Amino acid sequence: MTPDVRDEARRADRPARAESRDEGGGGPRSAIAEADWDRALRLISAADEVALSCHVTPDGDALGSMLAVGFALRSLGKRVVASFGDRHFAVPRLLRFLPGQELLVPPEEFPAEPALMITFDSSTFERLGLLRANTAGAREVIVVDHHPSNEGFGTLSLIDSTAAATAVLAEQLIYRLGGRLDRDIATCLYAGLVTDTGSFRHSSTTPAVHQMAARLVATGLRTDEIARELWDRSPFSYLKVLAEALERVMLEDGLVWTYVTRVDRAAYGLPYAEVEGIIDIVRRTDEAEVAVVLKEDDQGAWQVSTRSKGAVDVGAVCVALGGGGHHNAAGYTSHDSVEETMAAFRRELGKA
Ligand code: AMP
Ligand code: MN
Ligand code: MN
Repeated sequence: MTPDVRDEARRADRPARAESRDEGGGGPRSAIAEADWDRALRLISAADEVALSCHVTPDGDALGSMLAVGFALRSLGKRVVASFGDRHFAVPRLLRFLPGQELLVPPEEFPAEPALMITFDSSTFERLGLLRANTAGAREVIVVDHHPSNEGFGTLSLIDSTAAATAVLAEQLIYRLGGRLDRDIATCLYAGLVTDTGSFRHSSTTPAVHQMAARLVATGLRTDEIARELWDRSPFSYLKVLAEALERVMLEDGLVWTYVTRVDRAAYGLPYAEVEGIIDIVRRTDEAEVAVVLKEDDQGAWQVSTRSKGAVDVGAVCVALGGGGHHNAAGYTSHDSVEETMAAFRRELGKA
């Protein structure tokens, strides 16, 4: 990548910031200060080893951003270790196509007290799961994220709530480190960009997002193959579980919602990670402004996915319920029953 292309990429997010909409949680945070980028570069250049982590049950943005930066750091001669703090450590099936999985270690093998750690797409300290202790033990923690609710739990924040994905910030970091885009890095970044923008459909899809996509696609990656990996490889059992969830879907006063139990999944042998896409079907309901899917995980907790069409800030609702997210896509964890969880959600929604 020539320097002028890099400059173009660096400039690319500026008009986007000026035009981007309020993504909630008290409005967009100001762009990342040059002094903070400089400090990040100094911390990284001084490090021999960099420990990377992202939020638990990683999505394309979390894992893609982390692996992309992992590749770039490795090519700069750094030792790189990457992980996420799930109790049952496994890369979700639909992200196994991402290159760079050789950088991953289970949380038990993650350094206990890293000199330098970087977190990706994790809006809170809690979202680091088992890696919380390692983060607390790290000398320096750079937090790379785009959630408006992120208050910065590290020693340095690279947080920009106007960025459509953490992958946008990861690309910036790679350029600033003097790295170049190759097809592997671009595949990881593209996975983040395409998932968090809802395939370039959400309001976060600015001209800068399309320009970034163009830079990534220019490396020769196959957008059709990535789309198939991400969305068109569900097992047949997914359809059976989806049918159960849709059988009990409720529409009440602008709110459409349903739930998926671990018993539903066990009946068809479907892993938890496979039910992530159900919210994308439920949210299509034209009569509803807000969509909710309660997903019971293997430990029996409800992982609550919420979506808004724009009028309601579900990010604020989920923050009030102990979770996080964005104006139009957010979530939280509940240990109550379905009925109690929905009662609490309706109460908070009424205030929003
Ligand atoms: P999901 O519904 O899992 O696709 O998540 C949508 C958004 O909500 C993402 O930006 C997540 O970071 C956020 N989110 C989901 N679950 C939680 C949680 N338990 N705590 C905090 N944020 C969450
Ligand atoms: Mn994420
Ligand atoms: Mn994200």
